[in-house]
Amino acid sequence: MLRSVFLAAADSSRLGRMFSTASLGRNVAGRFVAGSGVDDALRVARGLADDGLAVTVDHLGPEVTTAEQAGQTRDEYVGLLGRLKSAGLTPAAEVSVKLSALGQRIDDKLAFEYALSVCAAAAEAGTSVTLDAEDHTTTDATLEVLAGLRKDYPSTGAVLQAHLRRTEGDCRELASAGSRVRLCKGAYAEPESVAFQSALDIDKAFVRCLNILMSGEGYPMVATHDPRLIAIAEDRARWFDRSADEYEFQMLFGMRAEEQGRLAAGGNIVRVYLPYGEQWYGYLMRRFAERPAAVAQIGRALTTRK
Ligand SMILES: Cc1cc2nc3c(=O)[nH]c(=O)nc-3n(C[C@H](O)[C@H](O)[C@H](O)COP(=O)(O)OP(=O)(O)OC[C@H]3O[C@@H](n4cnc5c(N)ncnc54)[C@H](O)[C@@H]3O)c2cc1C
Repeated sequence: MLRSVFLAAADSSRLGRMFSTASLGRNVAGRFVAGSGVDDALRVARGLADDGLAVTVDHLGPEVTTAEQAGQTRDEYVGLLGRLKSAGLTPAAEVSVKLSALGQRIDDKLAFEYALSVCAAAAEAGTSVTLDAEDHTTTDATLEVLAGLRKDYPSTGAVLQAHLRRTEGDCRELASAGSRVRLCKGAYAEPESVAFQSALDIDKAFVRCLNILMSGEGYPMVATHDPRLIAIAEDRARWFDRSADEYEFQMLFGMRAEEQGRLAAGGNIVRVYLPYGEQWYGYLMRRFAERPAAVAQIGRALTTRK
């Protein structure tokens, strides 16, 4: 129930404008988003790196409906990668990008060309790009772009969503040497025809996918805050004899920071997904949809801080 309220709120531009301009909204966002500009992203990334964490930086831009806006996304990422390099934050910091922000809904070829430019800038900065996964209607097109990018930039990362019924097959396809694959549960509401619906079925699918990736030859990036799945990933890494630099954990900025520290202190690579940008409202509502309990926790933290 609360999940659908937050997902509906994420798409409401009127609520977004009200919440984004209120100081409470900005305070809440500060817990999950670095800030609105590149300087904020660099400052927070530096702090995370000093704590021994790796980072993937994501730009939260407006919905892209024109080629010009897609070009602005490309320019933002190229600028960001230059700044990460000058700040000495690469290769520990990489970037995550959504193909929709590079114009995938306008023209696949345009999105591919712009993604190539971002990958070139990442290579120049000594780091990599990961292509975020969006809803299931984009999966084939995104994997096709990924294959094209990997011809020149083989470290380009993929994201696979365990809740999609097709994903075990995609894991088998992508579990090859050098292939970086982020496995997550999946954040988009999907129909039963293409996706498992119950939490139990999604968790079981996650473990099946994890088994394929951990037993394969690629580099699994285990993106979850779920303690049970983290424990299973640690177990599978031991079982398949992977050393600590042959896989990594990933979590979102502001979520389970203590657990991030515990895993890093245990010798694991832990990468924090760090969003920045003016369009943080929709991102925040999607996080609340996943974990409504966080709203109460944040409310308590904000009122006790004063
Ligand atoms: C680094 C990263 C990148 C991602 N990229 C994508 C992407 O490209 N595309 C996409 O569709 N989705 C992406 N996601 C989102 C993902 O698909 C899930 O929607 C999201 O991570 C929630 O699922 P979960 O596995 O973390 O666990 P959940 O199902 O949210 O939680 C399971 C259990 O974990 C525990 N838990 C969770 N959060 C907390 C917390 N904050 N504090 C304490 N306990 C907690 C609770 O016990 C909870 O019941 C990404 C997630 C991460 C971490």
